[in-house]
Amino acid sequence: RTVYLNGDYLPETEAKISIFDRGFLMADGVYEVTSVLDGKLIDFGGHCVRLARSLSELEMQNPHSDAEWLAIHRELVAKNAITDGMVYLQVTRGNPGDRDFAYPSEDVTPTVVLFTQNKPGLADNPVAKVGFKVISIPDIRWGRRDIKTVQLLYPSMGKMAAKKAGVDDSWFVEEGVVTEGTSNNAYIVKGNKIITRALSSDILHGITRAAVLRFAVEAQMEVEERAFSIAEAQAADEAFITSASAFVMPVVEIDGASVGTGKPGHIVARLREIYLDEMRKAAV
Ligand code: PMP
Repeated sequence: RTVYLNGDYLPETEAKISIFDRGFLMADGVYEVTSVLDGKLIDFGGHCVRLARSLSELEMQNPHSDAEWLAIHRELVAKNAITDGMVYLQVTRGNPGDRDFAYPSEDVTPTVVLFTQNKPGLADNPVAKVGFKVISIPDIRWGRRDIKTVQLLYPSMGKMAAKKAGVDDSWFVEEGVVTEGTSNNAYIVKGNKIITRALSSDILHGITRAAVLRFAVEAQMEVEERAFSIAEAQAADEAFITSASAFVMPVVEIDGASVGTGKPGHIVARLREIYLDEMRKAAV
């Protein structure tokens, strides 16, 4: 695989970074994951806007313009002949000197890493026909979940808890209500209404969330942005998650209780179809 490191396209085995990089020592960095369908980037503009915001919240300079980011993404997709898959982008603060809690000066060059993942048939994932089973676990993450940092240890633990329980994912619960999934936003459906937690620093501002809510309104569905409990989700007609890599994925079981019929519902199926259709049209 050819990867990108600080301006160079290299074989993955030749891409090396300093052990003093603050991404490595302190999880001091941010990332984005962009899906590729038919060789094109999905919602690229949304990823650029969020990347810029994450960097600015951490007082890091954006090392590239959106046009430069696009050129790097396209080059990597071409070099690795990706038809369906993902581009992972990471910017860490770098570090010119020794380990220190204080940030180095703002003109320090960040470390920029991008690589591709090949996922043939990404949009035809058969799991979308079956749906996810999830368990709930306490949300004990830090308070700035709106910044897309590489600090992913607790989400990893949540995935492991799900794996050990024989299910697909975990939903985080805080103060009696769901925040989000380990790597996705969480929703329930009641009648014609889509319910999902409002944006705040408690959750990542999913770019798939923004697109799906827009398409839901256009399709005459109602959208209510408020928190819900696990009990309310278990009693809902349908449930689902969204993310840039899973798109719209039904959730059919929560903590052992079936949601609705226990099969993916028609509202979620419709949202997935609209999302994929519209985003393919707008891909770059
Ligand atoms: N919440 C969390 C915690 C995530 O890690 C992700 C995936 N990046 C999402 C939500 C979904 O965001 P997006 O739709 O932008 O992929």
